[in-house]
Amino acid sequence: MDKVKRLNRRNFVKLAGATSLLAASQSLGFQAKAQDMASVPNGAGFYRFKQGDTTFVILSDGQSVGGSAFPNWGANEGRQDEFSATLARYGAPIEPFINNFNPMLVDTGKNVILIDTGLGGGDTTGQTVAHMANAGYKPEDIDTVFITHAHPDHIQGLMSKGAEVFGNAQLIMGEAEFKFWTGMSEAPPFIQNVLIPLKDRFSLINDGDEIVPGLSAVLTPGHTPGHLSVLIDAEGQQVMHYGDAGGHYLLSLMYPEHFLGFDADKELVVKTRATLFDRSVADDLLVVGYHFAWPGVGRILRQDKAYRFAPAFFTWS
Ligand SMILES: [Zn+2]
Repeated sequence: MDKVKRLNRRNFVKLAGATSLLAASQSLGFQAKAQDMASVPNGAGFYRFKQGDTTFVILSDGQSVGGSAFPNWGANEGRQDEFSATLARYGAPIEPFINNFNPMLVDTGKNVILIDTGLGGGDTTGQTVAHMANAGYKPEDIDTVFITHAHPDHIQGLMSKGAEVFGNAQLIMGEAEFKFWTGMSEAPPFIQNVLIPLKDRFSLINDGDEIVPGLSAVLTPGHTPGHLSVLIDAEGQQVMHYGDAGGHYLLSLMYPEHFLGFDADKELVVKTRATLFDRSVADDLLVVGYHFAWPGVGRILRQDKAYRFAPAFFTWS
């Protein structure tokens, strides 16, 4: 009895000491960690998944923060209050607006393809190459860069301080898109500084053409005149990178007539999105939206006369 009491007391003292030491070290540890962690962003800037033998890596170029969602992300006249209420209901940023940029690397085992390249530069963007390194790829590993369309947030990552970033890669884009931008009499700076210096490096393709084995182009015009999305056949699962043909991950799906301020041809883009979303549902595509909420991977579901985006289940491996 005495022995039990003594043991209990000894254990209690030991336990109490250990607990208070643990508590002290934990609180010190947590404080120090919390201070360190405050400067470290969530995640490592990439999201990797596999389908069959094909590896997909969504690479964040970072986020731009500022301005308002409207009118750029919902430009239909007189509809901004309604759109704004929808974003608020889903907790999506309105002001300041937060924009995502989701280029995608596809490693087929034979080719390593980068679909779009990000904004390049900036304080909070231009992270594609750094995040690619986190995922184990170097710019030299990329053998093909495919450009969905020539807006600055898709092409500027091709260049850094006047030098080409993906020097080992063939560059491919749509013929109509390329001709539209390079044929302008007064092209904007992002065309003059990026597309024009690289114009002889580009191979031009059209709707349905193969980019590399397993990847083909799908004409999705309206956002820009010759916009091409990319369909990847990964052993029974088709994956489509929409580029900007998917628009906004809530508004473009919930409101079939919705268009963006950046959409060049409003009527055409509405038709293109309806066709694209119908096909995504019918063919059970896994889709990726360049500006969708990170990492922008999911499926399209039909909802009444419209659609909704169902994010893919996040896995760590
Ligand atoms: Zn864009």
